Amino acid sequence: MGYKNVCTNCRISLSEGTNYELFNTNKTCPICKGKMYFVNEKFKAPKKSNDKEWKIIEYLLLSGYDFRNPIYGAEKYMYFEFPKNLQEAKAFVREMRKL
Ligand SMILES: [Zn+2]
Repeated sequence: MGYKNVCTNCRISLSEGTNYELFNTNKTCPICKGKMYFVNEKFKAPKKSNDKEWKIIEYLLLSGYDFRNPIYGAEKYMYFEFPKNLQEAKAFVREMRKL
């Protein structure tokens, strides 16, 4: 378990550990002072040079997805699979909003 804060601007993710007391969901980026997104441990930062994946991540984060596995139904879980393109990301967000 562990949580992260992500800055899509600088393409960094900072590990926040597992201590809930220390979680800060409104953190600003230490580099650009921009807003950071608080995400689940499922999040894995791609290489800084990976424009495509960062664009998808930015889209997902802006859509309110925090890389948790959202629950659907009583016992089924929707497991996160990284969308391969923006189209898949959009479909993913549509599915997520139905949950
Ligand atoms: Zn930043």
